[in-house]
Amino acid sequence: MTTPKKNASNASSKEKMATLGLISDFDFALHLPLRYEDETRLYKVNEVYPGQVVQLEGVVENIHVNFGHRKQLTATFKDDTGKIALRWIHYYPSQKAQLEKAGLIRIRGEIRGSSMWGYEIIHPKVSKAGQSLPQTLTPVYPSTDGLTQITLRKAITEALTRVKVHDSLPESIQQKYHLPSLSESIHTLHHPRVDMDTQALMDKTHPAWERVKFDELLAQQIALHLAREARVQLQAPQMVLQDTHLFDQVLAAFGLSLTKAQQRVLTEIQVDLQRSYPMHRLLQGDVGSGKTIVAALTAALVIQAGYQVAIMAPTEILAEQHFIKMQKWFAQTDIEVVWLSGSLKVKEKRETIQKIVSGQARLVVGTQALIQKGVVFQRLGLMIVDEQHRFGVIQRLSLSKKGETQTHDSIPHQLSMSATPIPRTLAMSYLADLDVSVIDELPPGRQAIMTKLMVDERRDDLLKHLRIECQQGKQAYWVCPLVEESEALQLQTAVDTYQYLQTALPDLRIGLVHGRLSPVEKAQVMQDFVQHHIDILVATTVIEVGVDIPNASIMVIEHAERFGLAQLHQLRGRVGRGQAASICILLYQNPLSQQAKLRLKALHETNDGFEIAKRDLEQRGPGEFLGLRQSGEQMLRFADIEVDTDVLENAREAAAIMLKEYPQAAEAHMKRWIKGREDYLRS
Ligand code: ADP
Ligand code: MG
Repeated sequence: MTTPKKNASNASSKEKMATLGLISDFDFALHLPLRYEDETRLYKVNEVYPGQVVQLEGVVENIHVNFGHRKQLTATFKDDTGKIALRWIHYYPSQKAQLEKAGLIRIRGEIRGSSMWGYEIIHPKVSKAGQSLPQTLTPVYPSTDGLTQITLRKAITEALTRVKVHDSLPESIQQKYHLPSLSESIHTLHHPRVDMDTQALMDKTHPAWERVKFDELLAQQIALHLAREARVQLQAPQMVLQDTHLFDQVLAAFGLSLTKAQQRVLTEIQVDLQRSYPMHRLLQGDVGSGKTIVAALTAALVIQAGYQVAIMAPTEILAEQHFIKMQKWFAQTDIEVVWLSGSLKVKEKRETIQKIVSGQARLVVGTQALIQKGVVFQRLGLMIVDEQHRFGVIQRLSLSKKGETQTHDSIPHQLSMSATPIPRTLAMSYLADLDVSVIDELPPGRQAIMTKLMVDERRDDLLKHLRIECQQGKQAYWVCPLVEESEALQLQTAVDTYQYLQTALPDLRIGLVHGRLSPVEKAQVMQDFVQHHIDILVATTVIEVGVDIPNASIMVIEHAERFGLAQLHQLRGRVGRGQAASICILLYQNPLSQQAKLRLKALHETNDGFEIAKRDLEQRGPGEFLGLRQSGEQMLRFADIEVDTDVLENAREAAAIMLKEYPQAAEAHMKRWIKGREDYLRS
């Protein structure tokens, strides 16, 4: 009996489609091809290039089974313009004989290799030559295990015959941006016609694609506008910032004068704090541009105005660096700086939380522990979040809700700091509801840093140089490899390296600092380094932030390939602060992954934090860059903000127009595109 079986399989493909979010006809209509396969034409060997998926017709010769370290079947494919190598790593024994008597065949596959060493196709699909070709591009849809393209295509085609796609854009908007109708665009993308621009469809530059991208970005822009409007309706502590007593004390303790950029961003922040609604401001600046002092001065103003301030960082080490600085800068004041992290002992933690609840603690520095249940502020006025993009979305959400758990009913202001400059396109799309202040000037006296890549085998050379440089009075950092997920292992490597360097360079003074040392011990080692009792300081990523020792002009980063781009840039920023020319040596071990190669290349080529961030974004994509990947958050499906900058600009402009002139259409448009994702956009 076939009936029950058929039903069962129908049910399961229906379920599978539902996991892709495909339920209503409109969902299917919007399930657009990931890409197309062009089976409409035959190529010639002399016109192909790597990465292309092509069909060719010709004959095969030199068919061999090779017994290398891995058995494989190879052959040469030939047409009247040239030759291409074919290779099968998995094959049936009968395949060789079949190829030998095949005659004229058609093959299909992706071109690999280079023009220098020759092209090849691995596992080409082989069929008879001379069969008729399809007339249009074949769509390939995003799918899931066990759901075939054929099933999906059929379901989509059926949905398209039923669905009536009503256009959520007013005529005037469509005309202004020269957009085709949504209905027409969707049909085109699912079933391209013969006479259409194939290349533009494949590259996603066809007007039909632009329409879909525009709609998607428009929805995002509308959501961000609305989030901003909603924020303006909220109540925040409206501050009176006349009294600069504490501010002046902190500035005096800092002992340096502010740069113009620092002064400017301080003014921008102060304007926000005097408003009735919560500030959401992102403070951006390259590594070492002096964000932390801006945060401290802002905290001083807010505390003076009678509120509590919390400073939160994503890791214990980062948070601790802030804690140490705040303690130093507030030492001459009567403000006690309080520390809260998950690693505190139960009793200490309880005491600290008590101080927060009672309001006795005016300035609290810590990790995520600050936003956990049970931590209720008496009068939180400002939350400063460092490296916010490293927090997951969930944390960001509970962060902006923090105000709800305090004893007075206004929402605290929020200042985020990021040493990873956010590229403009990203700021414009995902973070458009934030205001941005940029410190675009480094404190005086910074030197350009030369960055060298060095393969690990040349370590002996490196040691020779280090000895000479240090004997001439220079100091160096030696940063140990990051060991994913294991602080204990990372510690071990640092200790090993410390011993190894002591043996290899017996006439130099080697020091060691890592996260397991107590703040006092850490401070002692750093002090020894500052006073030049240490020549080479072996460190874990503890020194990623905040460490400032002008005489240190050499930075060695071991296993640099294991670090992220932003992190390497941060580490490198620890040198180049004194008079001497500085150098950063990235020691790496082969083989390098393609991604690692790109990262190291970027570091070698530029010192500019914005450029680094741009490449980081290109390499990792917005989801990972913003730390959304782990949460499985789906962001943009069709638009690529790096490529579709023009569409983004238009969508941004159109969002403002629509909200003003067609508020209902704007809301309907947003809802259609952003199913259940508003929550993120409100963070
Ligand atoms: P960021 O947090 O942006 O990486 P920091 O606030 O940690 O930067 O400052 C980096 C270093 O630059 C610190 O050692 C700080 O003392 C120094 N610095 C900051 N602002 C100034 C300034 N206006 N003049 C001189 N040095 C400064
Ligand atoms: Mg910093």
